[in-house]
Amino acid sequence: MKIVHIASELAPFAKIGGLGDVLHGLCRALLAKKHQVEVILPKYDVLNLEHVKDLEIIDNRFDVPFGNGSFENTVWRCIVDSIPVILIEPHHPLSLFNRETIYGCQDDPFRFAYFSCAALEFLVKTSRSPDIIHAHDWHTALAAPLIKSNYQAKGLHSPCLFTIHNLAYQGHCGKDVVEETGLKKEIIEKLQDSPHCYNLLKGGILFADHVTTVSPNYAREILETPLGGALTPLLQRRKHAFSGILNGIDFDYWNPKTDRFLPSRYSSKDVIEGKARLKTYLQEHLSLTNEHAPLVCAITRLVPQKGPDLIKAGLLRTLENGGQFVLLGSAHDEKTQTAFYNLKRAFAGSRHVHLELNYNEELAHLIFAASDLFLMPSLFEPCGLTQLIAMRYGTVPLVRKTGGLSDTVFEEQNGFLFEPPTEEAIGQTVDRALAVWQKPGAWKRLIEKGISGDYSWEKPSEAYLTLYKSLLHSSKALS
Ligand code: ADP
Repeated sequence: MKIVHIASELAPFAKIGGLGDVLHGLCRALLAKKHQVEVILPKYDVLNLEHVKDLEIIDNRFDVPFGNGSFENTVWRCIVDSIPVILIEPHHPLSLFNRETIYGCQDDPFRFAYFSCAALEFLVKTSRSPDIIHAHDWHTALAAPLIKSNYQAKGLHSPCLFTIHNLAYQGHCGKDVVEETGLKKEIIEKLQDSPHCYNLLKGGILFADHVTTVSPNYAREILETPLGGALTPLLQRRKHAFSGILNGIDFDYWNPKTDRFLPSRYSSKDVIEGKARLKTYLQEHLSLTNEHAPLVCAITRLVPQKGPDLIKAGLLRTLENGGQFVLLGSAHDEKTQTAFYNLKRAFAGSRHVHLELNYNEELAHLIFAASDLFLMPSLFEPCGLTQLIAMRYGTVPLVRKTGGLSDTVFEEQNGFLFEPPTEEAIGQTVDRALAVWQKPGAWKRLIEKGISGDYSWEKPSEAYLTLYKSLLHSSKALS
């Protein structure tokens, strides 16, 4: 099949979180199955060019009609980890993607609305007619209504799959932004949330040929529970074209046997010895005491979704149990940043706690490999990749029973779960987990269950392919 993804992230080239990992893992799995894949991305000024091959300009004067005018763009092509990528660099007066950041600008909806139009315009002008267009999250959700409203008339008849990676981010904006895209009036009306607020995510939900989200349990939660918020009725309306496909992780990239970031490697056969070696290394590296104590960790964006207060409670409870704690967390708002800097200061000089408050890919690999227990007390979690990575490295996950965490972690089989989002509940679960850690035989069984699980992209990519094929089939039947 010819599959085109229109997206805002692609790891390790342009990654903020799981979305980038998903694009990378899914595309590589589809390529391995001999399908043609292309990812269209904005040409951010902050791309990590280390992983890029064969970067070249393919069109220096590519016009995109937008609003009342038309803007020139440079279109680039390159290969990222064997994935063919098209990069669109707008020469727009607002320097849309030269902002030294991927997200976080006030005009993000405008930036990505422009990008969605540019990506479709590119497909039309290059007569690509892919078998499927796969759009992701609110950033490129407008691709779905734009195809129906404007681009079918220009000859683009590909079916569109839209994936919700996190319903919490919806792309709210004013009417002017959606009007600039040239969407028809009756479509624009359907994107309205309130008199002055429009919602880009709604475009994907209402107009894609099929909508997926990233785990079956999260699909159920946003359809049937308050987690769906105001979008539940819309999802209900599309429920026959809505499903959950569990994410995978890239088993080549996340592999303790070959991981280039690890000073020594291990496999499922020597996981106990291998992890013990790396624990000693990490303890020395982070100036923790080299003692026989459980090492508990968290690796996360420090945003409300990830339960930062519960992480703190888990940290304190670990110390009460005589354990050690390492947090690798990147805060995205000042309040959380200050709270965790204060916590770091409170533990300055402690040889049982290390808080690393930034984003560090290399250290993440080492912590995943060296730790015993991985905390993930998310308040909600569409899928979650880090619990899967933890298991792949023989680190036992302790998670909140929500979303994709419930689909992947099973009580005392491969991890530990708690439900009420309270300090008491996580505290008791840390006690319970660390009591099992004291019994090497029982702990080893948990590790073995996790490390032998198949959380690769093999099954999910098959599920996407089945869906792509059925959408293509239905669209051909209609035409
Ligand atoms: P989300 O996408 O909501 O942030 P996921 O669990 O789906 O959460 O994916 C998170 C990805 O980002 C994983 O690859 C994880 O290793 C990585 N990650 C998160 N925080 C950090 C950090 N501070 N340093 C390095 N990697 C991180």
